[in-house]
Amino acid sequence: MREFAHTLFWFRRDLRLADNAGLYHALERSQRVSCIFIFDRAILDALPDKRHRRVEFIRESIAEIERLLRRHGASLTVLHGRPAEDIPAFAKRQKADAVFANRDYEPDAVRRDRAVGAALAGLGIEFATFKDQVIFEQDEVLTQNGKPFSVFTPYKNAWLRRLSVENLQGHPSDKRLERLAPMPASEIPSLESIGFESTNLKSLGIVAGPAGASKLFHDFLERIEHYHETRNFPAVKGPSYLSVHLRFGTISIRTLARAAWERGGYGAQTWLNELIWRDFYFMILHHHPRVVSEAFRPEFNNLEFLQDEARFNAWCEARTGYPLVDAAMRQLNNTGYMHNRLRMVTASFLVKDLHIDWRWGERYFARQLNDFDLAANNGGWQWAASTGCDAQPYFRIFNPVTQSENFDPDGKFIRKYMPELTPCSNKFIHAPWLMGAAEQQRTGVIIGRDYPAPIVDHAQARRVTIERYATAAGRLR
Ligand SMILES: Cc1cc2nc3c(=O)[nH]c(=O)nc-3n(C[C@H](O)[C@H](O)[C@H](O)COP(=O)(O)OP(=O)(O)OC[C@H]3O[C@@H](n4cnc5c(N)ncnc54)[C@H](O)[C@@H]3O)c2cc1C
Repeated sequence: MREFAHTLFWFRRDLRLADNAGLYHALERSQRVSCIFIFDRAILDALPDKRHRRVEFIRESIAEIERLLRRHGASLTVLHGRPAEDIPAFAKRQKADAVFANRDYEPDAVRRDRAVGAALAGLGIEFATFKDQVIFEQDEVLTQNGKPFSVFTPYKNAWLRRLSVENLQGHPSDKRLERLAPMPASEIPSLESIGFESTNLKSLGIVAGPAGASKLFHDFLERIEHYHETRNFPAVKGPSYLSVHLRFGTISIRTLARAAWERGGYGAQTWLNELIWRDFYFMILHHHPRVVSEAFRPEFNNLEFLQDEARFNAWCEARTGYPLVDAAMRQLNNTGYMHNRLRMVTASFLVKDLHIDWRWGERYFARQLNDFDLAANNGGWQWAASTGCDAQPYFRIFNPVTQSENFDPDGKFIRKYMPELTPCSNKFIHAPWLMGAAEQQRTGVIIGRDYPAPIVDHAQARRVTIERYATAAGRLR
């Protein structure tokens, strides 16, 4: 294996020092390692909101990394620019003979890395990338015929069969930090200097960086054994809330999967299953990058959707008249998080009740979610829209009222985000339009004045959807 005199380690979706595969290999194979992060203009300039929680989360996370590096006499160089130009230029200035990074599977990132690699090769500088974001990547889990899976359960079984202690072993990158190149402390650019403003991230109690991830993880380990019972109820503290940390790599996937695997028990196994879904969607994106713009199932590329901005805006702005859908959209808009059950319900509602293109919803989630991840978001939307691999069958359509009764039976979640519905009794909180005039007077919640009437009739919208999908699938005679 080639050794290097000076390697540049480029942080991207792996904002931590502990168990960082690329950083570990850089430290192992180089006499000196310098670290860099680039606020990528191509990504940031495309963000429509200048108050963006993800940007603040990144900034806080790299500030923590810089503090940790400083303890070792090193530092993090932070640029605001274009990686394809800045990485080769910086590597050349620093006289680095290699640049190491962890692999990113999104099509734009793959293109970016190809450009960076080519520019570095032109300078005689090696570019090496490593698996870090997932347990199994690309072609590591295939069918017996050597093809990528398109159904989750056999993928999961093959994934579990392939799993061994080595796959979950951490890379002790934080034990080799003495090889970091000595550097004076560097200044982390302020949000303002890169064109952004601070958000409500801190007041939401979201702590970025490895310290925030570790705190959440230890909190979750206390309740992991109940995960399978609690995870579907949005008013209950059931899931881990680690998604934003997985998104930015402030905690290692190996640490999480190992903890779940070692613990065993139904709760931990159910949670491990969710981590396998994550690998599954990364694998799908890798093998089928066309899903970024197309249905995974080509027959559903013919579906016609309504180009109805008013309906779409009502959904975005929590004005559909269906309390669980509206409460979920307020959770998303106010906090950047939405509970998994509600992502399924709101996505289904947009596509199958409002007949709007799943890509519109996918884009809106991408803009709002703190944990936005192309692979999981696209996978989730195509699942809910029944256009994806192993998706919800098109005739199985969530009833937003039944979902509300089953998963928020006391209306606790609804009341948290829709205080205007607080006076409604538990009988009517899931479908307030069923209140008679006297009940509306008594509660002071007048439908059409204090809360909208339902934007569509679910039963009718459902019938139309089944016909549209059946036609597209060629199943109508
Ligand atoms: C329409 C839709 C859009 C979604 N968009 C995203 C997204 O942009 N980013 C994202 O990380 N997840 C997305 N998900 C998956 C899931 O809803 C979130 O990962 C989960 O709600 C995050 O909360 P948590 O960390 O508390 O999850 P937990 O229940 O604690 O799960 C642990 C981790 O497993 C992974 N995970 C869980 N469920 C899934 C899943 N269905 N697919 C892939 N990974 C999963 C996540 O990394 C999550 O953090 C989407 C789901 C749907 C239905």
